[in-house]
Amino acid sequence: MTGEPDSPGGDREFDFDPAERVQAVPPSGIRRFFEIAEERDDVISLGVGEPDFATPWTARDAAIDSLEQGKTSYTANRGMRELREAIAGYATDRFDLEYDPASEIIVTAGASEAVDLAFRAFVDPGDVVAIAQPSYISYEPGVTFAGGEVLSVPTREADEFRLTVEALEDAGAADAEVLVLCYPNNPTGAIMRKGELEPIAEFAREHDLLVLSDEIYAELTYEGDHTSIATLPGMRERTIVFNGFSKAHAMTGLRLGYALGPADAVAAMNKIHQYTMLSAPTTAQYAALEALESCGDEVRDMVDQYDRRRQFVLSRFREIGMDVFEAKGAFYCFPEVPEGWTGEAFAEELLREQGVAVVPGDVFGTGGERHLRVSYATGLGDLREALARIETFVDECGPDRTR
Ligand code: PMP
Repeated sequence: MTGEPDSPGGDREFDFDPAERVQAVPPSGIRRFFEIAEERDDVISLGVGEPDFATPWTARDAAIDSLEQGKTSYTANRGMRELREAIAGYATDRFDLEYDPASEIIVTAGASEAVDLAFRAFVDPGDVVAIAQPSYISYEPGVTFAGGEVLSVPTREADEFRLTVEALEDAGAADAEVLVLCYPNNPTGAIMRKGELEPIAEFAREHDLLVLSDEIYAELTYEGDHTSIATLPGMRERTIVFNGFSKAHAMTGLRLGYALGPADAVAAMNKIHQYTMLSAPTTAQYAALEALESCGDEVRDMVDQYDRRRQFVLSRFREIGMDVFEAKGAFYCFPEVPEGWTGEAFAEELLREQGVAVVPGDVFGTGGERHLRVSYATGLGDLREALARIETFVDECGPDRTR
């Protein structure tokens, strides 16, 4: 404080001093990329993590109808009963997950809120939270905000970015309290099948870990169906599953997600939610209810289109001569940059020279330093052009122009 007025209102200077756990989170590493992108007007972005499709019409109509009828009040804290029932039915039909709509489901403002609630509800200061990485960028800050300690568990391209017990043991995850999984994975596109999840489940049981399983890309699995770790023996009671409408139903801006878990877990999360959020957006809940009731065909159609794009992008990277493992889920692939480059340098030069925006893999934690996250939630026309530009860039950069 200086004692001098510094604004017309006569406010005194005040030094905002963010809490240590807020200061502990570094600024986002991709800010610089936005600045470079703004310098050009021909940028094709393969950087985004959201569908390019609009929300299916019937869901939009349901939202509009609810507004016309003046349904704009809060709902029950845990979400509208009909929606929780619809979610329970959907989770059973699609993923063999059985949860009681009255006590085992909470509807949240995006899966993001659900994940944050779980960290705040179950992480005590100093608790160790093991995160299989590379993975979605919000987990680490979420753990830090909750006062926990992050333990990175790197996955490897040689294992197709699946988590292994060896990786858990090497990282010391046996001493953790919580394990965070994200399959199908953002950013790698990796999936884990039942047989690969079984040893992870055994490890979690043996070391008494709470498992937080972010399954928001569960519908976007291209070869065979998704398996939830919560369906494996002894796992339901120690797992919280997150899902939502942003990805499969193309509803990112409507902000609607949910968590499924044993009643005690959901009650603890609801204790925070009822004071901090009250209830998830009502209009979005009506859209979501309709999405579950009538948008199965639209979802399947979007999944087919993502799959076509996936195959195109993977085959083009191979033609270009970049190593890329066979991503089988979500809408990302994760190619390795040519020898001598870091992902960050490659992404920056590619953006400057060719106007193609991708995200360097290191943003997603340990294990992605030499990779790029390439999203194919973009039309085939743009994907074709972007891959042609990447080919030109790789041809021009050659072996002597390395970083
Ligand atoms: N989890 C993962 C793995 C994601 O990729 C995203 C969105 N990028 C989210 C959660 C957040 O989803 P929502 O929009 O439902 O908050």
